[in-house]
Amino acid sequence: MSLVTLNEILPQARAEGRAVCAFNVVNCESAKAALLAAERENQPVIIQVFQRLFGDDKARYVGALVRDMAAHTSVPVVLHLDHGQSIEQIIQAIRYGFTSVMLDGSKLPFAENVEVTRQAVHLAHTAGLSIEAEIGHIPTTATAELPLSTPEEAAEFVAATGVDALAVAIGTAHGFYKQTPVIHTDLARRIADAVGIPLVLHGGSDTPDQKVREAIACGFAKLNIATEFFQVYLEEVIRQSELRAGAFLPIDLFMNPVTEAMSQLAASKIRLASGR
Ligand SMILES: [Zn+2]
Repeated sequence: MSLVTLNEILPQARAEGRAVCAFNVVNCESAKAALLAAERENQPVIIQVFQRLFGDDKARYVGALVRDMAAHTSVPVVLHLDHGQSIEQIIQAIRYGFTSVMLDGSKLPFAENVEVTRQAVHLAHTAGLSIEAEIGHIPTTATAELPLSTPEEAAEFVAATGVDALAVAIGTAHGFYKQTPVIHTDLARRIADAVGIPLVLHGGSDTPDQKVREAIACGFAKLNIATEFFQVYLEEVIRQSELRAGAFLPIDLFMNPVTEAMSQLAASKIRLASGR
């Protein structure tokens, strides 16, 4: 199946009270694991590449890899730039054949975030891509303070920019939590009521399943998973290394169980997001 944009899958997901998983990928194995899980669960999937990988040639060749894999996959696939930091990265993503981008201006003052996001929306939509933006800034778990978004600023931001999906801060954070997070589902409900577009849950990793279900019921239609997905990769590499006890194995064979372990985790997240 050829690649699609967020607009072909997220509005329907939101209307049906489910979410589509977005997995960060960095190489062949992580991309294959996410696509394999989506096919096994027969659900659409978002493959996203973090903005740091646009700093060298990784985003280009990972993008090419995912485009080829998606063409041989039976479910809809979105190829998305995660946390784009500049207009230049949006242009790079368009050149690399991505079908969706995120412009993250959440660290900027509100008016500047609106301005740069409007420019990015114009570029993305002109090129036929969908676009996600962020307000309220979703921090890493290392940050003590978790600033929250408000329904009023969310509505104003969406009206002023024309974005297709919006990441808002309701208490989740990127990375593993040091203590159980407080997820403000009441706030999520009010933000979803204020904006008609699909909302995006960043920091989906390590967030309790019940909290994820509640957020999805409120209108969060994109569930981002990176940390847990990568952690399975690292743990399985260590486990396989110990099993081999130093014996040689070609890398493709060594990586097969690693890909399978990541795919199992991805499938469990897809079932959670799709309410099964
Ligand atoms: Zn994020």
